[in-house]
Amino acid sequence: MTTGWVSERTEGENGTSLAIIPEISVVVPVRDEVESLPLLLEAIASAVSDNQLTYEIICVDDGSTDGSAELLKELAQTRNDLKAVILRRNYGQTAAMAAGFNYALGKVIVTLDADLQNDPADIPILLAKLEEGYDLVSGWRHKRQDAALSRLLPSKIANWLIGSITGVKLHDYGCSLKAYRAEVLADMNLYGELHRFLPALAYIEGARITEIPVRHHPRRFGRSKYGLSRTFRVMMDLLTISFMKKFLTKPMHVFGLLGLLSMVLGSILGIYLTFIKLAWGEMIGNRPLLILAVLLLVTGVQLFSFGLLAELLMRTYHESQGRPIYRVREVIAKNVN
Ligand code: UDP
Ligand code: MG
Repeated sequence: MTTGWVSERTEGENGTSLAIIPEISVVVPVRDEVESLPLLLEAIASAVSDNQLTYEIICVDDGSTDGSAELLKELAQTRNDLKAVILRRNYGQTAAMAAGFNYALGKVIVTLDADLQNDPADIPILLAKLEEGYDLVSGWRHKRQDAALSRLLPSKIANWLIGSITGVKLHDYGCSLKAYRAEVLADMNLYGELHRFLPALAYIEGARITEIPVRHHPRRFGRSKYGLSRTFRVMMDLLTISFMKKFLTKPMHVFGLLGLLSMVLGSILGIYLTFIKLAWGEMIGNRPLLILAVLLLVTGVQLFSFGLLAELLMRTYHESQGRPIYRVREVIAKNVN
């Protein structure tokens, strides 16, 4: 049985020991999950090592206040298979995952939640599916154990919307249990709640995507960090990535186009009114058409400038993407390559 990657060392040419790069990196974002961690690490270790694979577990502490960070640091000093990445404060699940990806060495990266809602025993099933020639295998919590009204319903709507807009139809974008070939994640710029959009983002880069049913358990300890407000943030992310990643090209220009149309209509009406005033000497002050013309012109100019600003904002955003979305306080690992 393989217990972590660093247990497997070879002698280098000059007698130094070289750590073998693990085949699998399991990335886990952690915020206040101190009770789950020992069970989780054991479950991951037994699931992955049964497969005779070398692996590392990267737990990213995302500003926990319940002692999760301290426990992770302690465990990382004794376990060969654990890297504890401690962030400076709470940055959110996506940022914590991005930090984990940054430290991951494996050719394959698996993500899952720390709260034991995802079942580490499913990892080998995802890996086997990846072997069939996929670049990304996404878990589908077909019997999801969360509140129906506040979680299942919004997520059903969100999945449908994301599927329709991106053209990548998955039942369960929000499932954290996913397996990736590392190159899929190499150049991803993540922010907001974007980790859930990874299948769609990877798909437009040409990745082969599939989905398989996985187990899901009710939370055993602590409580969920999320409620309905996340659905709103996810929707805003959907809207903005749809613009930026060009899933929707037309709506990006919708303000500008509407504005232009409105300006043209307003101008035609204005010219018409000017004509009847000047050529026929008619009164135009009491015509409803005049109000319409003025309204169209004014809103047209406004919308057009709004569209221009939106475009500028979008470009500014692209240019500013170099900024890191998290800061690391420390990394503890018994053996660091
Ligand atoms: N999490 C995190 N940072 C946060 C919120 C959550 O790293 O700001 C982690 C959390 O510890 C868990 C995963 O993200 O491992 C999913 O969170 P949670 O279980 O609360 O979400 P739910 O399963 O209810 O969607
Ligand atoms: Mg959970």
